[in-house]
Amino acid sequence: AKKHGKDRYEVFEPAMREAFQANIELEADLRRAVLRHEFQLRYQPIVHLHTGEITGVEALIRWQHPERGVIPPMEFIPLAEETGMIVPIGEWVLREATSRVAEWNRKRLGPPLSVSVNISAVQLDQTALPQVVRDALDTAGMQPDRLILELTESLLVEHRPATLDRLHEIKRIGVRLAIDDFGTGYSSLAYLRRFPVDIIKIDKSFVDDVVDEPTAAALTHGIIQLGRALQLSTIAEGIEHASQLTSLAGGDCELGQGYYFAEPLTHGALDDLLFPTDVP
Ligand code: C2E
Ligand code: CA
Ligand code: CA
Ligand code: CA
Repeated sequence: AKKHGKDRYEVFEPAMREAFQANIELEADLRRAVLRHEFQLRYQPIVHLHTGEITGVEALIRWQHPERGVIPPMEFIPLAEETGMIVPIGEWVLREATSRVAEWNRKRLGPPLSVSVNISAVQLDQTALPQVVRDALDTAGMQPDRLILELTESLLVEHRPATLDRLHEIKRIGVRLAIDDFGTGYSSLAYLRRFPVDIIKIDKSFVDDVVDEPTAAALTHGIIQLGRALQLSTIAEGIEHASQLTSLAGGDCELGQGYYFAEPLTHGALDDLLFPTDVP
């Protein structure tokens, strides 16, 4: 039995050890990244589909790794959540995003931009989150209703009883809540009754097929109508083509984002877009 065990160990060892070591290394790097502030935000414009006007931005994190270059969130957010490092990282995202956007709003004529920030389940488990949000808004000098916290359906599925109370506490600050990736979970409709949300973000998978697939089109337009009936705004995600825009705008979707309008931009690039006549 011992030999069998040893043989089995040897069969799995190389791949397992590699994965294990890669993870340990990533974790050590991530700890260093938190201390050395190696994160950056990109800002993707959210656009009014009928006027083309930018109404807000979604903040999306990137890790500027000293050797590996820019690492996308999907490659480190899961580990950051497992290790709890998402708490300090998420606090930084909130502070950075609110202070940058508040700064743009002070320079800008016209209606102030909103800023959407992705919040992980681990952050929502923290009793301190409402205070962190209040602090970020105060420091930035931002009106609470300009901040939108994006929650995923999976976060709401796994919610603990305290989650609902915390969401209400956060709502009382005056910030708005969005359900991200709407329609991809198993009981999206139930969340609309349970949670105090203001905005539905229609998942990119619907938008991808809205032109070519009658079923996707029917579901997308159904979600938009549902949003209207519940007095929620709808934001369509991942718009890449004019034909998708036509279908969504024709179906009365109010807002959208996607590469068709702009990809997530650096702070400097968004500044240029918002204030094209600035002297460099
Ligand atoms: P998400 O919140 O659903 O963000 C939308 C993703 O779609 C972003 O990927 C964005 O760059 C991408 N995207 C936008 N428009 C288009 C398009 O037209 N076509 C395509 N193919 N993609 C488009 P990104 O930036 O890689 O972020 C991936 C995910 O990582 C996000 O999905 C979000 O769940 C998570 N994430 C990003 N930033 C943060 C953060 O600060 N905190 C937390 N907890 N999660 C974050
Ligand atoms: Ca999001
Ligand atoms: Ca999304
Ligand atoms: Ca997503």
